[in-house]
Amino acid sequence: MNETDDRQEIRVGFEDLRSLLRAIFANNRTSAETADILAENCAGCERDGALSHGIFRIPGYVDSLKSGWVNGQVLPDVERLGPSFIRIDARNGFAQTALAAADPLIRRIVRETGIGIAAIRNSHHFSALWPDVEPFAMPGYLAITAVNGLANVVPYGGRKAVYGTNPIAFAFPVEGSPPLVVDQATSVMANGEVRLHALANTPVPIGTGVDREGKASTDPHAILAGGALNTFGGYKGSSIALLVEILAGAVTGGQFSFENDFTGFPGAQTPKAGQLLIVIDPNWGGSTNFAPRLALLCNQLLEAGQDRLPGARRFANRAAAERSGIPIKANDLQRLRTLAGG
Ligand code: NDP
Repeated sequence: MNETDDRQEIRVGFEDLRSLLRAIFANNRTSAETADILAENCAGCERDGALSHGIFRIPGYVDSLKSGWVNGQVLPDVERLGPSFIRIDARNGFAQTALAAADPLIRRIVRETGIGIAAIRNSHHFSALWPDVEPFAMPGYLAITAVNGLANVVPYGGRKAVYGTNPIAFAFPVEGSPPLVVDQATSVMANGEVRLHALANTPVPIGTGVDREGKASTDPHAILAGGALNTFGGYKGSSIALLVEILAGAVTGGQFSFENDFTGFPGAQTPKAGQLLIVIDPNWGGSTNFAPRLALLCNQLLEAGQDRLPGARRFANRAAAERSGIPIKANDLQRLRTLAGG
């Protein structure tokens, strides 16, 4: 295959991609269950065009698993404390495995009490958050989640990274449409996006981050090599990053982003991050027509001139992938096949 062919896009079916990724995880010290969960998650990101958390992340997963920093085989401990609270010790495994283990209990608790809160600690999260909330909007719930990470974001006016890119996501049902899902870092840009810019050698917009001296920089390499990102939205966004840090890193009994320490685990990349998930049944709040009301609200947003709703780009990509496959560059596909041993 010559260089031009290498960059050619090949269309791959979701099931084929998921199988390939499952084989890669299974080859790299993960249980069959975790391999299934991570493969579904990563293939879903690639299919939806959430590319900062799709197949681009595979080398990071593999290196982290090989380093022993994260345990791909462990089963989480799930405890129910009181009517609505679930406490989960992921035992140094992936947050997605912990969430999957708690999922039936979360749904039961929401049915019984109107609200379920899952606090995951001792976990790693290396993906997008939409897969964690979108499924709860399907039966009509509102789901909110927050995750902290590795300290690579300076607080407003600061010179030293304290926060992770600390994403927050929420999803709710909209009658007549797919659920509306907002999923965003509280940094100006997700770290994965900066890494994609670094790979492509393209500058990031002014205001994205700082270099190792704390000076504003548009060079993704400088931001990644000892520099840091800014929070979104000035001091107000910085306070939302603070809220995420507290929900994910403290309410859960987890650790703060600045407490991550990879020493002794060369190659490790997955942030050890806590995660808090809150699922609310709006019927308990008195809203017996939540999804139609939210359809009304969303229509108002569009009529007011908002060009599209959050999540709409992903759903359009998903529909296109269902019709004609997921576009993947030939050389990327070949790398995955090599890692899968095929
Ligand atoms: P974006 O800024 O690309 O998008 C944030 C949200 O805004 C999305 O819901 C997006 O919808 C929506 N959106 C984008 N453009 C518009 C628009 N013009 N009008 C209306 N809505 C819009 O996301 P980020 O770069 O901040 O984050 C990317 C991903 O990185 C997220 O999935 C996040 O969870 C993940 N992440 C994970 C971390 C981890 O440690 N695990 C850390 C940080 C980030 P749509 O998706 O449809 O474009």
